[in-house]
Amino acid sequence: MTPFSERAVHALDDKNLRVALDRATTQLKARRAEAFSSLDDAESIRDRARNAKLDLLGDLGNNLLKFEKRLKENGVHVHWAAAGEDANAKVIEIARRNQVKKVVKSKSMVTEEIHLNASLIGAGIDVVETDLGEYIVQLSEDKPSHIIVPIIHKTRADVGKIMHERLDVPFTDDPEQLARIARTKLRQDFLEADMGITGANFGLVETGAICIVTNEGNARMVTSLPRIHVVVMGIEKLLQSLADLDSFLKLLARSATGQKLTVYTTLVQGPRRGGEIGPEEVHVILLDSGRSSLLSGDLAESLACIRCGACLNVCPIYKNIGGHAYGDTYAGPIGSIITPGLRGLENWSELPAASSLCGACQEVCPVRIDIPRMLLRLRQTTTERLTTPISLRLGMMGFGAVAAMPGFYRLATGLGRRLLRLLGGNGWLKYRLLPVKNWTKVRDFKTPAKQSFQQMWQAKEKAGGF
Ligand code: SF4
Repeated sequence: MTPFSERAVHALDDKNLRVALDRATTQLKARRAEAFSSLDDAESIRDRARNAKLDLLGDLGNNLLKFEKRLKENGVHVHWAAAGEDANAKVIEIARRNQVKKVVKSKSMVTEEIHLNASLIGAGIDVVETDLGEYIVQLSEDKPSHIIVPIIHKTRADVGKIMHERLDVPFTDDPEQLARIARTKLRQDFLEADMGITGANFGLVETGAICIVTNEGNARMVTSLPRIHVVVMGIEKLLQSLADLDSFLKLLARSATGQKLTVYTTLVQGPRRGGEIGPEEVHVILLDSGRSSLLSGDLAESLACIRCGACLNVCPIYKNIGGHAYGDTYAGPIGSIITPGLRGLENWSELPAASSLCGACQEVCPVRIDIPRMLLRLRQTTTERLTTPISLRLGMMGFGAVAAMPGFYRLATGLGRRLLRLLGGNGWLKYRLLPVKNWTKVRDFKTPAKQSFQQMWQAKEKAGGF
């Protein structure tokens, strides 16, 4: 894979992408703000939700065992998967045992994370995404670029073109007609599928129920029409009780799309019982894949994420480069923690640096995850553990030595200031300055003030004036 910096530059060069991102993130941000303003006790709900989730994660092992017990009491088959490949193999095994030929899926980030679709197709099983955005992603052999809005990077015209080319229908960019085309195609898939696969927004320890929220109602079809329903969920997705779910549903819908409540909230509590419609078998695969090691370290708080996407919409980096540049399933500020956390820092050490540390992500996060703290921690670990370029190490050593000697520091910065002022006659340096040439390639460099802050301060003090 190309380095992050190259992927980011490539994204920055894509003007259409930036227009699409700007429009969508601005809209989502405004809707979120409006939705929260309608909630009187929003701040206390956020506190309650955060505390409930952190308490649960603090005793995750026992909570998982309780959840497993409830699931089994509800007639659900429970499987544990240490890694993504184990989860994929388990799904394929269940499919083969039940002669499954076609699978319908509802939107699920965790199955993106473990590349389940590719494994199913490799095993000769047809798989169809039924969330409209994910359906377009699948048709165009693309990848989702936002947790909530998978095709945030595409315009209506792009979608019309994809449907025209892949489904052999007349071109239109009218959203209603596009939805109608997808609905007609997907209806047939729902009726033909032998297995439905979903993720889980939440799993309730108290009752063993799986909660799935959608705006299109497709999860209801996926969980009720096929003979088999398989849930793939990360082990961190638990909540203790229905009372906690109430808080989380209020926060999730508002943070994700600015709704008071997502249109469809589905609670699955086992296979069908006498007289009911629904699957004959329900399986839950509890996936670790790096989560338990996250839990035991400095990044444990990231497991409280409910994948609402709000931190992406406010991030100045994400808003400019979109999700693909991050190189993996989870993008934006939280992705810059989760990806190195789950996949290892070695190949993902550039991501934590892709942040201005402005704190907007933490401010909007419904569970107040301290994203900036963890990004800084990852940067520190990168510096301690991984090989940093010799130029950077020498530079930092030099700065450390100079900064430790105040007299010398004043002399060096005074000389530097004078030199820079000499080079930049009208207040701006327009050259590509060697040590910071990547910075000055795209920005002019403001020349320093005549006096340092300390000199100004002393002069003010002398003049007797604060
Ligand atoms: S970190 Fe917070 S804001 Fe970002 S996706 Fe997760 S829950 Fe939402």
